[in-house]
Amino acid sequence: MKRYSAWSVFFNGLTGQRNWDRAWRDSEPRREYDIVIVGAGLHGLATAFYLAKNHGLGNIAVLEKGWLGGGNAGRNTTIVRSNYMMPGNRAFYEHSLKLWENLSHELNFNVMFSQRAHVSLLHSPAARDSAARRYNTMRLTGADGELWDLATLKRNIPHLNYSPDARFPITGAAVQPRAGTARHDAVAWGYARAADQCGVDIIQNCEVTGVTRDGGQVTDLHTSRGLIGGKKIGFAVAGNTSRLWRMAGLGKLPIETHKLQAFVSEPLKPLLDQVVVFGVGGTHFYISQSDKGGMVFGGDLDWYKSYAQRGNLPLVQDVSECATSILPCLGRVRLLRHWAGVMDMSMDGSPFICKTPLTNLYLNAGWNYGGFKASPASGWYFADLIANDRADPVIANHNLQRFEQGINLDERGAGPDPKLHG
Ligand SMILES: Cc1cc2nc3c(=O)[nH]c(=O)nc-3n(C[C@H](O)[C@H](O)[C@H](O)COP(=O)(O)OP(=O)(O)OC[C@H]3O[C@@H](n4cnc5c(N)ncnc54)[C@H](O)[C@@H]3O)c2cc1C
Repeated sequence: MKRYSAWSVFFNGLTGQRNWDRAWRDSEPRREYDIVIVGAGLHGLATAFYLAKNHGLGNIAVLEKGWLGGGNAGRNTTIVRSNYMMPGNRAFYEHSLKLWENLSHELNFNVMFSQRAHVSLLHSPAARDSAARRYNTMRLTGADGELWDLATLKRNIPHLNYSPDARFPITGAAVQPRAGTARHDAVAWGYARAADQCGVDIIQNCEVTGVTRDGGQVTDLHTSRGLIGGKKIGFAVAGNTSRLWRMAGLGKLPIETHKLQAFVSEPLKPLLDQVVVFGVGGTHFYISQSDKGGMVFGGDLDWYKSYAQRGNLPLVQDVSECATSILPCLGRVRLLRHWAGVMDMSMDGSPFICKTPLTNLYLNAGWNYGGFKASPASGWYFADLIANDRADPVIANHNLQRFEQGINLDERGAGPDPKLHG
């Protein structure tokens, strides 16, 4: 398969765009693989790519029940940041951000990573103190962060609701300049193409429907395209994790499946050059502008559990209220589309990249609202875990035992309710 280059764009432009290769093969499933990853979302595809690239492993398949990138990978609001303070998160998300910074080159695929800054609005002196603690910790440990006073914020983002009578009066912002957005489909396609080039079989329309065990080991996966065996198996199925976990006969997981919606407006002229986020008094809202001009935004979970990839109308009202309270100029903008993804919400809002009670089964799950930004590092460390059978110190606490050991990864320490971890 040829590498993309400026020359290939020029040449194909002159020859009617008829000479492009397929981006990845349409692989037929084989009976046995060394490693089988279930789920061709960002985490599954990134894992397969790093297994091949970082560890030189082959004979790998990724099984996907629908089309690759049709899950949360292609449904999220694409925010990438590393503004974390807890020791278990800082190194992980900063490593991810560093991978993002070189991802287009690494994959030879333009993932449109745009470091346009992530701006968290502050509404009180207490919020500013708390942000100062977090952003100072980030700066001391290798990430970037700034606090903006009101004048700086007004200069950079003039259209916010700065009225002192606003529902949420703004007093300043905490900013990570290296954070931003990327094109989510391109990330899935880029990882798929790069993994395929390393020899990984990506098998779409291949749903895992059952798991056969021999004692403490998985022997076969029953799929809609026949039996597939793997010496090592990794689950990376986001909101469907508890289903697969039950198929493996492992009972219950500390994960609930919730829906999260995203919204996009009709295209507008350039209005917002950053990602803006606010969360105060029970609200939660984030917004950016896509390259096509649509305002892309979202808020909280839909507040009830479901496996459906569609959301409810009360949330549309809730999120629209947040949008107009902070950016009143959006009041007459038309909403173009909204959709939902099926989220794997863990009890502490934090992920799992870990071994399981079965010796050859590995788990990657619990990404909640934040798995897009995490996908490069998640694939990197999950591949390392599968290849070497031990957890890198960076993910030492991303396991199922942390609840009984009292280890806290949750930035807020909000407690065992998925709805508190927005
Ligand atoms: C509306 C919304 C907004 C979001 N915004 C952000 C954001 O701004 N920033 C951020 O960092 N994160 C965000 N996220 C979270 C992020 O999208 C997810 O955490 C992440 O995409 C989950 O990992 P994934 O890509 O591997 O999941 P998915 O893309 O869901 O991949 C899992 C795959 O497994 C497949 N699968 C499931 N069951 C089976 C089976 N039985 N057999 C075979 N295949 C199966 C599914 O079809 C799916 O393709 C958002 C999520 C949503 C829904």
